[in-house]
Amino acid sequence: MASASTSSAQVPVAQAETFPDGTTDYIPVRKKAYDLKKPHITEQPITWSNWYQHVNWLNTTFIIFIPLIGLISAYWIELQYKTAIFTVAYYYFAGLGITAGYHRLWAHSSYKAKLPLKIFLVAGGSAAVEGSARWWSSLHRSHHRYTDTDKDPYSVRKGLLYSHIGWMVMKQNPRRIGRTDITDLNEDPVVVWQHRNYIKSVITMALIVPTCVCGLGWGDWWGGFIYAGILRIFFIQQATFCVNSLAHWLGDQPFDDRNSPRDHVITALVTLGEGYHNFHHEFPSDFRNAIQWWQYDPTKWFIWTMKFLGLAYNLKTFPQNEIEKGRLQQQQKKLDQKRATLDWGKPLETLPVISWDDFVEQSKNGKAWVSIAGVIHDVGKFIADHPGGKALISSAIGKDATAVFNGGVYNHSNAAHNLLSTMRVGVLRGGCEVEIWKRAQSENKDVAAITDTTGQRIVRAGEQITRVTSPAHMASAA
Ligand SMILES: [Zn+2]
Ligand SMILES: [Zn+2]
Repeated sequence: MASASTSSAQVPVAQAETFPDGTTDYIPVRKKAYDLKKPHITEQPITWSNWYQHVNWLNTTFIIFIPLIGLISAYWIELQYKTAIFTVAYYYFAGLGITAGYHRLWAHSSYKAKLPLKIFLVAGGSAAVEGSARWWSSLHRSHHRYTDTDKDPYSVRKGLLYSHIGWMVMKQNPRRIGRTDITDLNEDPVVVWQHRNYIKSVITMALIVPTCVCGLGWGDWWGGFIYAGILRIFFIQQATFCVNSLAHWLGDQPFDDRNSPRDHVITALVTLGEGYHNFHHEFPSDFRNAIQWWQYDPTKWFIWTMKFLGLAYNLKTFPQNEIEKGRLQQQQKKLDQKRATLDWGKPLETLPVISWDDFVEQSKNGKAWVSIAGVIHDVGKFIADHPGGKALISSAIGKDATAVFNGGVYNHSNAAHNLLSTMRVGVLRGGCEVEIWKRAQSENKDVAAITDTTGQRIVRAGEQITRVTSPAHMASAA
């Protein structure tokens, strides 16, 4: 946060560091006193004697101590009606500086902005006290590139509290954070100006302006300072931190569940629409975070309005076809996982092959075996529950009931075919339907593709192996 930007203010912005792999990077934000060759404090475990060296005191002052002082002071300072209205409006101004400015414009280049809009956004971003746009965007690009890994600056895998605030309160090893390319930001004069004049911009936009508006406007100097200044900063910071914590912890994953980002309306409500974070991590260059008209994404509405006013252009959207492909693949993955939990019967290829004579013999010796479409089923436990009565099913034992089952006596339902598959115990040697299936498997590659990602065979309704469409004639043995 602020500390990083303070220190980096002394570093010439336009210089870039070239790495062995040929990529260039901005000069890392760290104090000149840092010697990369010396071990960093984070390489030592936290103990009672060194814990205070692990704490980033400047950040802690900005995000914990000053807000605390503001909260306590609020006890003595009455909140005036006009100050309250202005505080909310200024909150939205600062919030949009972060969401529409720092995030969607500078970190992701999801649209282009004309100079007046850039100045408006950088002023709002300064009022939010979340570091310079350059520093913020660089870390955010790292977060997208290395999501959930050790190089992610605010990885939720290290805990919800760490991703929310811990990564700023505790010192971080600058060598750990993943590198990103920010040459485009170094060429943006607005970004460079704000980075070089960060402290001045913050004090002006975060404290002086709100205090003066309330003071000169309706004489509420202290209310402007405490409510529109300090406490508003606190709320906007906490809301933004929620994107790093809550949006990686709470909600659904409609596009990809391999990483932590999630979609949730609550996160969206707190963060001016940044809560559709699963979508955002999949399609970060899209200027929208919510793609449905009824979802809450005021940042998108703001950018759209700016386009209408001629201040924003080149709004990027991902093709709907690609978005739907991602959504479908995730749905398919969920279906596969669900399919794997169900009993579809033993796979045919793993069943023992039984000769017709053996089948008849075993049935005479007490096994309740019925052959349907070349597959042998043990119906013993089902006889008493058979909706068509005990007599009918018992009469099929030791016989081929393919035709009877498929309409000869009763055309069994899809559910009956499904249930029957859970009873199979063997495959009849020379059983015609199974033979056809096995031949199809060896000849037609498409047949082999009817397994899902978990290796389960996909059995569609009406396509069970026991289903024979044209009524088969009764086997002579029956
Ligand atoms: Zn994220
Ligand atoms: Zn992002």
